[in-house]
Amino acid sequence: MFDAILIDKTDDAQTVTLSDVSPDQLPEGDVLVDVAYSTLNYKDALAITGAAPVVRSFPMVPGIDFSGVVVESAHADYKPGDRVVLNGWGVGEKHWGGLAGQARVKGDWLVPLPDGISLRQAMAIGTAGYTAMLCVLALEAQGITPDKGEIVVSGAAGGVGSVATAILAARGYEVAAVTGRPAEADYLRSLGAASIVDRAELSGKGRPLAKERWAGGIDVAGSTVLANMLASIKYRGAVAACGLAAGMDLPASVAPFILRGVTLVGVDSVMCPKAERIEAWKRLASDLDLGKLDAMVTEVPLSEVIDTAPKFLEGQIRGRIVVPVAPQAD
Ligand code: NDP
Repeated sequence: MFDAILIDKTDDAQTVTLSDVSPDQLPEGDVLVDVAYSTLNYKDALAITGAAPVVRSFPMVPGIDFSGVVVESAHADYKPGDRVVLNGWGVGEKHWGGLAGQARVKGDWLVPLPDGISLRQAMAIGTAGYTAMLCVLALEAQGITPDKGEIVVSGAAGGVGSVATAILAARGYEVAAVTGRPAEADYLRSLGAASIVDRAELSGKGRPLAKERWAGGIDVAGSTVLANMLASIKYRGAVAACGLAAGMDLPASVAPFILRGVTLVGVDSVMCPKAERIEAWKRLASDLDLGKLDAMVTEVPLSEVIDTAPKFLEGQIRGRIVVPVAPQAD
C-alpha cells in the first residue's frame, strides 16, 4: 500500500482525500514507476480544488508530472532502475497521476531523465519548467536571438515565468519580468531579470498598437496581458503563449500581425510530440543554471498538498512547489 491523493465525485460534490492505495488499483500501463517527486502545477490546483473541470474520470489521482525510478517494465525502452520523468499526456486528468507512491503509465509517455538532472531537480523544473523551455524553443524557432532585443515574460514570479526568466538569462537574453508582486523584484533579479515591469502596465484595455518595446515574449496570462504584449512587440518579433492566468479571452486586434509581422506561437506541453520533449529536457540540462532552482522551490509534503492547492488560484505561489513523495538519492 502507498499514500495517494484521491479525488472522487458523488452527486456533483467533489471530495479530495489522502488515501491508502494498493498497486492493484493502479490503471493499466506497461511501466510501473516508484514516484520519487511530484509537484503542484496550476492545473493540479484546478483539479484538486475543482475550480475547473480538469479531471475527466473519477476516482482520480491528480499530479500532471512526476520523476521516479522504474520498478517493472514491459516496454522495450525501459528497465528496472531507469530514472524517468513524465509530463502531461492527460496523466492526473484522465489517467492516475503523480501525487501517489507509485504510478503505472504507458512507457511511450516517459522521458529518460538526462544525466546531470537529479530526480528532485526534475520536479523543481516540472511541467512548468519544461513548458518554459518549449516557449524558449518556440522563440528560437522564430529567429528571436539575444541580439534582437529584450524578451518580456509575464507571471514571472510564478512557475513557468520563473524558469523562463532563468533560462533566457542564462542564454544571454535581457529579460523584462512582468509581475503583480513588486516584493518579488529581488527574487526575479536573482534569477537574471534585467528589469521589472508592473503587471498593471499590461492589465488594462490597451491600444491596438503601442510603442515597440520587446523583441519577443513568453506569456502565461492571456487576456489583456497578452493583447498588450502583442501590441508592444517589435517588428517581426514573436510571442509564445502558454497560459490563461488572467483569462481565456484575447481582446486583441490584428494590427501587430499585419503591420509589424508579429508571430503568435501557441505552446502546449500536454500532447507535445516525444522528440520535442526529449529535446526540451536535453536543453534544460544544458541551458538552465540548476543552481537557480533552489531559490524557486518550496517543498510541500503529500499530507499538505490539499491545503496548498487553493493558494495557486490566489496567485500566492512563488516559483515551484515540489512534493517529495518517496525521495531517492541519485
Ligand atoms: P503559477 O500560478 O505558478 O504562475 C502564474 C503567475 O501568473 C502568477 O504567479 C502571477 O505571477 C501571474 N498572474 C496571476 N494572476 C494574474 C493575472 N490576473 N494577470 C496577469 N498575471 C497573473 O502557474 P504556472 O506558472 O504553473 O502556470 C502559468 C499558466 O500557464 C497557467 O495558466 C497554466 O495553466 C499554464 N500552463 C500551460 C501549459 C501548457 O501546456 N500550455 C503548461 C503549464 C502551465 P506574478 O505575481 O509574478 O504576476
